[in-house]
Amino acid sequence: MSAEDALPRATDVLIVGGGATGSGILRDLSRRGLSCVLVEKGDFGSGTSGRYHGLLHSGARYVAKDPLAARECIAENRVIRRIAPACVEDTGGLFVATPADPDDYVEAFPARCAAAGIACEEIPLDEVFRREPSLNRRIRRAFRVPDASLEPWQLIEANLRDARDHGGRALPYRQVVGIERNGGFISSVSIADRRNGTVDRIAPRLVISAAGAWAGRLAGLAGARLEMSPGKGTMLVYNQRMTDTVVNRCHPPGDGDIMVPVHTVAILGTTEIHVDDPDEYGIGREEVEHLVAEGELLFPDIRRMRVLRAYAGVRPLYAAEESVAADGREISRAHVILDHERRDGISNFFSIVGGKLTTYRLMAEQTSDQACTRIGVDARCTTADEELPGLGADRTYYWLGDRLAEHEAEGGGDAELICECEFVTRPMLDRFLAERWPCSLDDVRRGTRLGMGPCQGAFCTFRAAGIVADAVSARSPLEPESDPGAAAADVAERALVAFLRERYKGTRPIASGRQLQELWLATGIYWGSLGIDAFETATSDPATVSDATAEVASDGAG
Ligand SMILES: Cc1cc2nc3c(=O)[nH]c(=O)nc-3n(C[C@H](O)[C@H](O)[C@H](O)COP(=O)(O)OP(=O)(O)OC[C@H]3O[C@@H](n4cnc5c(N)ncnc54)[C@H](O)[C@@H]3O)c2cc1C
Repeated sequence: MSAEDALPRATDVLIVGGGATGSGILRDLSRRGLSCVLVEKGDFGSGTSGRYHGLLHSGARYVAKDPLAARECIAENRVIRRIAPACVEDTGGLFVATPADPDDYVEAFPARCAAAGIACEEIPLDEVFRREPSLNRRIRRAFRVPDASLEPWQLIEANLRDARDHGGRALPYRQVVGIERNGGFISSVSIADRRNGTVDRIAPRLVISAAGAWAGRLAGLAGARLEMSPGKGTMLVYNQRMTDTVVNRCHPPGDGDIMVPVHTVAILGTTEIHVDDPDEYGIGREEVEHLVAEGELLFPDIRRMRVLRAYAGVRPLYAAEESVAADGREISRAHVILDHERRDGISNFFSIVGGKLTTYRLMAEQTSDQACTRIGVDARCTTADEELPGLGADRTYYWLGDRLAEHEAEGGGDAELICECEFVTRPMLDRFLAERWPCSLDDVRRGTRLGMGPCQGAFCTFRAAGIVADAVSARSPLEPESDPGAAAADVAERALVAFLRERYKGTRPIASGRQLQELWLATGIYWGSLGIDAFETATSDPATVSDATAEVASDGAG
C-alpha cells in the first residue's frame, strides 16, 4: 500500500461519503487550508450520485411547491456551467402541457418561473414538433427553460482532483464501521479497508457525514438520532436519444414525467417509493409498466422503443420528525445541515442530508462554513469562483465522436477496440488501470463508459476482464509453484461474474419481447461459451454485489 493510500492517524476533518456532496466538501475545506480526509465505502460516485437521473435542474420543477429550492437550483445551475463546462450538455429544457395536465398549473407556470429568477419562454408548437418530432402531438403549450444534462462521475473526479491539489486525501473502499466517543466528543473513528479487511483508526477534530441515504445508519454508530426516509426512484434507459432536449411535463411533479437525454441514450424517470433499507431494494415489473404508461403521455410511440435497462437510486430524504408519515414526494427535497451538538450533545459532528446533485456545491459551502466556525477557522469559500481542473483543454462536453476524432488525430489505424459501442480502446483502458489501480470492472465502467452502450457489455466485458486479469498478474508476483494461467483465469471469471450480476439486475425487470432475445444472446455468450452462469445466480442484493466488486478489487491489490 502506498503512503498516498494509507489512512493518516489524525486530521482536521473526516468526511464520510464520496458522492457529489462529500467530494464537494473535501474540495471546499481543502481549499480553505484544512487537512481533510474523505472515506468512501465503495468507489467514488457509486452511491446515489452515480444512480441519479442526470438532470442539471433549472429549478422550474420546484417553482410551485418549493420556490426556495427553485432559486437555489437556478443559481447553482449557473455556477456549475461556469466551473465545470465539460460536465454539462446544454440540451435546454421543455415543460410541456399534455391533455392530462391541470390548466391552472400551466397558466401560473411562467410567472412562477419569473418570480424564482428562471428564464422561461413560451415557444410555438410547430417549432417544438420540428425540434422534437417524437413528442405527443396533443401537447397544448410548451415553455423553454435552462435545464441541462449533467455528467456525475467526471464532476466528482474533478472535485477530488482539486481537493488533492490542495492537500486533501480521498480514499475509496474505506467504510466507517465504528465511532468512539469521549463524552460529547468523537475521539476516534474506525475505518475498514474493504479490499483487505484491515481496520484502522483516525482521530479527527471534526466529523462530517455526507453519507446520503445511509446517513441515519452512520449517525447511529455515533449514538446520534437521525431519521432518514430513503426514497427509491427507478429509471428506464432507452437505446437512443428520442429527444435532444430535457422534456418535463408541466404539472405537479409525479412519476415518469421527465425524459433526459444523456450521451447516446435517453432516460425516463422516475418513481418514488419508500424503502426501509437503502441497500435492499428491487425493481418490479409493475414499476416499469407504470413508468412506460406515464411516459406515453409525452412520447406516444415509447412502447416501440427499446429499453436497455432499468436502474434505481435512493434519495437521501430527511424525515424531519413532523413529516415522518409523509409520502416520499411530500418530503422536502431541500437540504438540511444537522448540528449534532444541538441535537445529541456531540460537539464535533455534523450531518448533511437531502438536497440534489445540482445543489451539491452550495450544500458543501454551507456545511464547510459551519465546520469552519466550529473549529475556529476564518477562511472564505472559493469553490464558485474557480474552474474545476482536469476536464480537458477544450472544456467541452464529451461526445462519442470525440473519441474517434482523437484516435484519427493520433494516426488512426487499428484501434484495438475493447468496447465498440462506447469506443473504448486498449490504450484508454490501460491508462485507466494505471491511474486507478486497484479497481473493478464496475469502476472501469464508471470511468470509461465501457459496457454502457446498446449491447450493455455483451461483447466487451470478457475482453476487459482478460485485461484486468493481466493487470493483476503483472502487479502481483505469484508463488513459485502456482499456475499463472489458472490464477489469471480465476480473477477474470470473478471480475466478469461481479460485473454481469450488476448489469443483470437492470435487465431482469425489462426482460420481455426483443429485450428478452437480447438477454438470451448475452446469456448464451457468457454461459454457453464461457461456462459462466452469472445470470442464473444473480442476486438483487447490492451489498453482495459490491462485496464481490470489492473482492475483485482486493485481488487486484494483490
Ligand atoms: C432516482 C433519483 C433521481 C435523481 N435525479 C436527480 C436529478 O436529475 N438531478 C439532481 O440534481 N438530483 C437528482 N437526484 C438527487 C441526487 O442524486 C442526490 O441528492 C445526490 O446524488 C446525493 O449525493 P450525496 O453525495 O449526498 O449522496 P451519495 O451519492 O449517495 O453519497 C453518499 C456516499 O456515502 C457512502 N457511505 C455511506 N455509508 C458509509 C460509511 N459507513 N463509510 C463510508 N462511506 C459511506 C455511500 O457509499 C455513498 O457513496 C436524484 C435522486 C434519485 C434517487
